[in-house]
Amino acid sequence: MGLLSSGTPLPWAESRAYNEHVRTNGIEQLLHIFKAAAGRKDDRLLWGDELEYMLINKDNGKLSIKDDDILELLETLLESKLETTDDQKEKRNSNITYHPEYGRFMLESTPRAPYNLTKEYSAYSYVEKNMAMRKEYAKEELDKRNIVASSLTVYPRMGCKNFLDGYDDLIFTEKNTSSQSLFLPDEVMNRHPRFPTLTANIRERRGEKVCIQLPMYIDENTPETDDSVYERNWFKHDSEVFHILKKNHVYMDSMGFGMGSSCLQVTFQAPDLSQARFLYDSLNIFTPVLLSLSAAAPYFKGFLTDQDIRWNVISGAVDDRTPHERGVPSIFPGNENGGTTAKSNSFKGHIPKSRYSVVDLYLGGHPHFDESLNNTDVPINDKVYNRLINNEIFPMDANLARHFAHLFIRDPLVIFQEKVDIQNNTTDTDHFENIQSTNWQTLRFKPPTQAATPGNLKVPGWRVEFRPLEIQITDFENAAFSVFIYLLVECILTFPESINTYIPMSEIWENMDTAHHRDSVLKSEFYWKSTFNDKKNFETQKASMTNIFNDKEYGIFNVFINRILKHKQLIANDWSELLEKHSSNKDLVRLYYYLYYIHQKSVGKIPSWALYLRNFVLNHKDYKKDSKVTEIINRDIIHLTENFYHYSNKDLLVKFFGQRLGSYLFENPI
Ligand code: ADP
Ligand code: MG
Ligand code: MG
Ligand code: MG
Repeated sequence: MGLLSSGTPLPWAESRAYNEHVRTNGIEQLLHIFKAAAGRKDDRLLWGDELEYMLINKDNGKLSIKDDDILELLETLLESKLETTDDQKEKRNSNITYHPEYGRFMLESTPRAPYNLTKEYSAYSYVEKNMAMRKEYAKEELDKRNIVASSLTVYPRMGCKNFLDGYDDLIFTEKNTSSQSLFLPDEVMNRHPRFPTLTANIRERRGEKVCIQLPMYIDENTPETDDSVYERNWFKHDSEVFHILKKNHVYMDSMGFGMGSSCLQVTFQAPDLSQARFLYDSLNIFTPVLLSLSAAAPYFKGFLTDQDIRWNVISGAVDDRTPHERGVPSIFPGNENGGTTAKSNSFKGHIPKSRYSVVDLYLGGHPHFDESLNNTDVPINDKVYNRLINNEIFPMDANLARHFAHLFIRDPLVIFQEKVDIQNNTTDTDHFENIQSTNWQTLRFKPPTQAATPGNLKVPGWRVEFRPLEIQITDFENAAFSVFIYLLVECILTFPESINTYIPMSEIWENMDTAHHRDSVLKSEFYWKSTFNDKKNFETQKASMTNIFNDKEYGIFNVFINRILKHKQLIANDWSELLEKHSSNKDLVRLYYYLYYIHQKSVGKIPSWALYLRNFVLNHKDYKKDSKVTEIINRDIIHLTENFYHYSNKDLLVKFFGQRLGSYLFENPI
């Protein structure tokens, strides 16, 4: 989430009239971007991560929605510091920035200027240092308020009784008019008017509230249905809810259950357009397996669930498709085409997936690509497709056009009245970004702006964002995942001729489903290739995570990590040499431990946070074998995880990370 537009966001009934206007002009803007930036060459491999925190009261473990002023406070402090200092070290230590997120209890943070690992100061461990600085910088202000910035993926009791801190002292809107949720007050949303409008417009377009039902983790006393659903009579939906509840499922009805969870994202700049396309395509195969490895979400709305990750919850939480588009009957008869009836919504066909989902199409454009790989049902906007192919500005090839023509089957969700007409398609990108940034997929192909002409290095070029990962509890882990992906990216960009990661898109989709399974990292098998060297081989077999990472022929460590480390002349054969070979170089020792950590997870020696936290609940003395996370357990999860942030409790570190890594972390805080 970058800057927020100011202005008046239009409610669905009014904004719908401009849908086609936004799409048509968005596509013209896109063509001008391509015209301006397609010739850009040799951009550096700049990159950056995004971490999202939840602000939580340290004592009672409840979510805080009273401290969102902290964002502006921190940014103002940072800006004045950067303006007034000439000290390079201090500048480096202030190379951080905070962003708003969906939840009023959320804070996002990124490096202010992207990393460049080829620069002297930006050695591998700088990523983790930068992450630590973001917490360090906020610490004084957070301490004053008795708040911890937690990097839990999901707040355990989101939407349960008493989950917000000081809720009673606040003045609330009378009803949750935007979300109409039974569980989440509208006050959990960011105060910026974009967010309530986004929430309401998704619900209105869909014609129903969003509906997410997750299987409960079954124990002796698990209730038959979600007994946290209570009767209320405020909205049209309220009387329907008991008809749709599935047995042994947790019911969630609001955008906040998804967009209120936290993730780790990493964005990379490719040297040029065609390498950005190849990078995007090549990263697809890694999205489900790295998601599985990062699993950190064993509970939702106070219930242990029979899955480990957040992905399908967010997917459902922003699913604006009408019943007709989803191919199901509507809850309210006559509502097949969604809300505000009359002329219905723009797209008339069937849409297999939510706008938050796994990547739909490879971008192609590389000799290894084959048309047959895009083998899934992906509807496109024909008008957009034809314009992208046939125009005098920048005629696209069919695969590129298909990608954008798919994104553009979606309606804009929030249109700002002031932005409708004033845009200049040769310089503005708002209409394009409106559709682009509300297609939330496992990867995002990020075109630059029209200012990104060849040689204008002041503005970013062609980027690819890796988006599936769950956030981890410690900065060490988040840095390990980020650096691991950085090495994959570097490898792909270094050996584009001889690396072929393509498999049929349908198998990526299946792998994504598999990643949701409880303990998928230990128990599931994923489609994987037996060779990555063969230019026209797309065949797969099923493989365990242990083999996917460690097999000598086809494992990620050998095929990608060893290869790039050898190329950099850091090792002779295997990444594990890093430790002895470079024992006096702290950065490379830390790099070794990042890789060691990923390796230990892939063989099940370090548990996923999902497994660890599920077991923590199951073994808690307040647990009643009813699959429920009580207020006391919730508070203890907050305290337990907070204990990890300081690396000061050796026993705890050793228990989770194992003897070797636990001791290393205890003795070597960043
Ligand atoms: P979004 O929320 O749209 O993904 P953010 O601004 O929150 O965007 O995050 C973008 C990430 O990309 C940040 O980590 C930032 O440091 C990084 N970044 C910024 N400029 C570049 C660039 N030129 N190349 C690669 N990454 C960049
Ligand atoms: Mg974010
Ligand atoms: Mg962001
Ligand atoms: Mg992002």
